[in-house]
Parts: sequence; C-alpha cells; structure tokens
Amino acid sequence: MLDTLRTPLEEGEIRVPRRDGTAAYPARFQLILAANPCPCAPANDVDCICSATTRRRYLGRLSGPLMDRVDIRVRMDPPGNAALMNPVGESSALVRARVMAARAAAIDRWSDHGWLTNSEVPGSALRQRFRLSPTVTRPIELFLRDGRVTARGADRALRLAWTLCDLRGGESPTESEVAQALLFRDRGYA
Ligand SMILES: [Zn+2]
Repeated sequence: MLDTLRTPLEEGEIRVPRRDGTAAYPARFQLILAANPCPCAPANDVDCICSATTRRRYLGRLSGPLMDRVDIRVRMDPPGNAALMNPVGESSALVRARVMAARAAAIDRWSDHGWLTNSEVPGSALRQRFRLSPTVTRPIELFLRDGRVTARGADRALRLAWTLCDLRGGESPTESEVAQALLFRDRGYA
C-alpha cells in the first residue's frame, strides 16, 4: 500500500485511469515516515526481545524502493530524563530563520531555470550543467562503486548536499556536505 506513493513521490502527480483516458492530479507533498526499530519497541534497546529475523521482517515492510526515495533517515534515540526536563538546543524561531534563508538562497540560484527548491532540480542538471568538482563528489563515486547507494539515491544525496550548503550559507556544497548527505541515507535504518 505504501508503495503506491512511489510514483507521486518521484513525479509530483497522481495519475488515475478513467474511461476516457487518464486524469493527472498535482501531488507535491512532504512525506514523513516513522517506525519503531522492532515490534516490541522497548524504551531501552538492550531490553529488546525480538529475534534478528523478526526485526528484519518488521523493517522489511518498508520496501527498499520506497526507502530509496526517502532523502533523510534518522535514528531517534530516547531522550534521557534530564533532557526531557531541561530541553537544550536552538529555539524553533532560530531554526526557522535559517531554513527561510536557505530556501531563499535556493530560489536565487534556480529560479532563472524554473525551479524553486533543490528537490525540484532534475538529477541530470545536477550531474551535468551544475556539476560539482570530482573532489567534491568523490564520496558519491565511492558509494556508487560499493553499491551503497543507487543511481537515484546518488541524485537525491546531491540535492541534499545543496540544501546542507544553503543552510550553511555557502556558495556550493563541499566534499564533507556530500559525505554528510550520503550518511543521512545510509544510517538509522537497519
Ligand atoms: Zn524488539
């Protein structure tokens, strides 16, 4: 069922067959998925009573092709009691300002080409017209060679690297931002 989201995620529209042809509806959305690490989902990992097979089968319900379209995967560890009582970190207002600035930078860069966000830029444009230097994209080459990322995943990591660059307020992604973007795809889901 979740897998039916694959095409709209990729193409930004839903096509419904009709008697007189096919109707296409706009479907650009942000997909946020959440899952427990295993069926028993204990407060502390060490208390898990699931077998390796059970864990694998449980996570297997999120198909590889769907997960390949998820740009950022993060493993959330339970907060300690102290953190719950005294939250630390940046305020939402501060983070919002940084995100707004990053989005403005993306609009500045792409709007002449008809795109407004990094996620809208076709992979072919990122790989050719706006190609980064081989040193910067080296981590992607390595991941592709080892089969740790698919071609689609590589494009998605490139887009994410641009977003990390925009959040930093930089001109173009660095090698470390490319590596960071790949790590967001590689971890937290196993
Ligand atoms: Zn468990």
